[in-house]
Amino acid sequence: MHENIRVNGERLWAALMEMAEIGATPKGGVNRISFTDEDRRSRDLFTSWCESAGLTVKVDKFGNMFARRPGRDNSLPPVMVGSHLDSQPTGGKYDGAYGVLAGLEIMRSLNDGGIETERPIEVVNWTNEEGAILKPMIGSEVFTGALSLTDAYAMATPTGTAESGLDDIGYKGDLGLWSYPVHSYFEAHIEQGPILEEKNLQVGVVTGAFAQQWYTLNFTGLEAHAGPTPMASRRDALVGAAHAVLAIREIANGVEGGRGTVGCITPYPASPNVIPGAVDMTVDFRHESEEELEEMTSRFEAAVGAIAEENRLEYDLNANVSIARVPFHPTLVGYVRTAAESMGIGHMDIVSGAGHDACHMAKVVPTTMVFIPCENGISHNELENATPKDCEAGCNVLCNAVLAAANSTETLEMKP
Ligand SMILES: [Zn+2]
Repeated sequence: MHENIRVNGERLWAALMEMAEIGATPKGGVNRISFTDEDRRSRDLFTSWCESAGLTVKVDKFGNMFARRPGRDNSLPPVMVGSHLDSQPTGGKYDGAYGVLAGLEIMRSLNDGGIETERPIEVVNWTNEEGAILKPMIGSEVFTGALSLTDAYAMATPTGTAESGLDDIGYKGDLGLWSYPVHSYFEAHIEQGPILEEKNLQVGVVTGAFAQQWYTLNFTGLEAHAGPTPMASRRDALVGAAHAVLAIREIANGVEGGRGTVGCITPYPASPNVIPGAVDMTVDFRHESEEELEEMTSRFEAAVGAIAEENRLEYDLNANVSIARVPFHPTLVGYVRTAAESMGIGHMDIVSGAGHDACHMAKVVPTTMVFIPCENGISHNELENATPKDCEAGCNVLCNAVLAAANSTETLEMKP
């Protein structure tokens, strides 16, 4: 075993703060939507930092960026470490940027210590993780081949297409997608939930990501006048929707670790004195176990039928998105856990409730993630906050886990 190396926490923090000046918002967050000038400037700054650190930066045909530090044996597939520099329109300083800049800090620290690794290491910045103007996590999706480059290029954005957006910022590169083998992928990220903070721990050892089942649900009744129509003769679709919202909460509460959310609800015709004749809503169930998820969704499907019947409504329930549980690679998860343990950093195993580029990568490349706490679990918000100490601790763990992979000459099987 190598000695643990320590990163420079102050330099990491300074890089986070400097990056956050690009697209800075008055409330202390950032606005760096893909294919905007802010996106371009964040990529330019990242490139200049990488080049100053002696890294070779390449850009692939979908704008994903790879900054390589050579290893002793450059015929070995590289270890990748990264995340994304784009943000929500009212996003925070840490979501995404932390993972990219933690990767950069590892490179700088290895340089400081004159440390060589067996394998090359590459820092990655994925294109358009956030999905503010395109579907989310599209850069890693295209990279892994789950979405074709042609289809991705053609996707519409507010100003044109994804392809024209990449051209606009000068980041449609030459590198082919996934044009060489990759040994492993690591991603550090703020947790985006409250668990680590509540338990006063600095690192989450992420073992995988939640299984998800999304629906669209429509209730149809009959619109009628709010005055002359007695309560007993109504077919109020919004009352059905209200029952469904509460049923979803009860179902998710009833399964340990369950999540159930109605994010959108649209009544029709939405007039103050008309009983709503129809409602469209979205439903999102998640669980770390596919069995428990199925338990929740079958209860939900039964509940919807009963609610419709009781309220004399028609309904149309459509399961529109299914995402299987994503298990991360046990060897890499072990590297992260060992790094945290050997440095005495408080940690726990955790499952990611959100999607990340790592979820696409995990399907084709051995992958894992490292979480750090964020204040009150808040993200996708200008108030998003993390502490310099937690950023440093997470980067130290990431660094030593990445080193373990980069110094291993073994090929990892996808399913060991
Ligand atoms: Zn993110």
